[in-house]
Amino acid sequence: MKDHRTNVGIGGVLHTGRELHVLETIELDEFASYRFEAPLEVSLRIRRAGTGLDLNGTISGVAEGTCARCLDDVRLPLTVDVEERFDPPSENDDPLGESNVLVGDELDLQDLVRQLVDSALPIVLLCAEDCTGLCTKCGFKADPHCRCTPPE
Ligand SMILES: [Zn+2]
Ligand SMILES: [Zn+2]
Repeated sequence: MKDHRTNVGIGGVLHTGRELHVLETIELDEFASYRFEAPLEVSLRIRRAGTGLDLNGTISGVAEGTCARCLDDVRLPLTVDVEERFDPPSENDDPLGESNVLVGDELDLQDLVRQLVDSALPIVLLCAEDCTGLCTKCGFKADPHCRCTPPE
């Protein structure tokens, strides 16, 4: 069983300025009513920038959820462009700060991916922009299954 957390050692990047390329698949637990049945693919280039880190790359995968109107399952292909900058905590900062993605020489890749995917997901998921939802009389999806409205 693979460890669920995926930490990336970035000491080499911080201390030698060497660039690091990360190619990983990351499993995400269900959150914010989205499910992730397959691991997400993560491709990142990590570089030193001043005393901090620059992250560039993409996260791709498929989020699965439920249409807010008709309750159909929806598969939502995701490609998240990553452009992040991390500064090392200074002595005055809470070492965990607002995110605990970067702790010492370790980058918590799974936590980073979860946060970035979270901010990229729509708050309201629809199967289609013009989803008509469920018929209030018969409970079937209003189009095309509902037969309540006789054809004109
Ligand atoms: Zn729908
Ligand atoms: Zn109906």
